[in-house]
Amino acid sequence: MTASEAFASLRDALRADLGTRFPAIDVEVRHSADDGTSFFITDGGVPWGDAYVLWDDNEQMSDRDAEQMFLDVLSNVADNLWPDEATDLWPPCPAHHDHPLQPGLHGGRAGWVCLRDSGTFVRLGGLDNTDA
Ligand SMILES: [Zn+2]
Repeated sequence: MTASEAFASLRDALRADLGTRFPAIDVEVRHSADDGTSFFITDGGVPWGDAYVLWDDNEQMSDRDAEQMFLDVLSNVADNLWPDEATDLWPPCPAHHDHPLQPGLHGGRAGWVCLRDSGTFVRLGGLDNTDA
């Protein structure tokens, strides 16, 4: 795939997942002057900040490259951008319900993993509105 296709997939997945907790979330793909790309996130118009990647639109990405980029951006959002006070127990682990999932890879695919149980995984973009 091209990087721009991967950017669109990631933008949509972030909107979907973050939207389960922050209904007014928006994610915008912005092109940097220095050949990189950033994902600029706002919640109800209030900026969280942006997660930068070195990829540019027309570059070819392998599936592996794309999954790693998904994880890098998701980790950056979780570690640095979102409000910690609103995400203490979010997203909730569907297996244990008493702790949040963490960004991670499962079988080479990016998403949300349970650090206690390696079998529990939610694909990026697949968080369930009804489980919150
Ligand atoms: Zn768990």
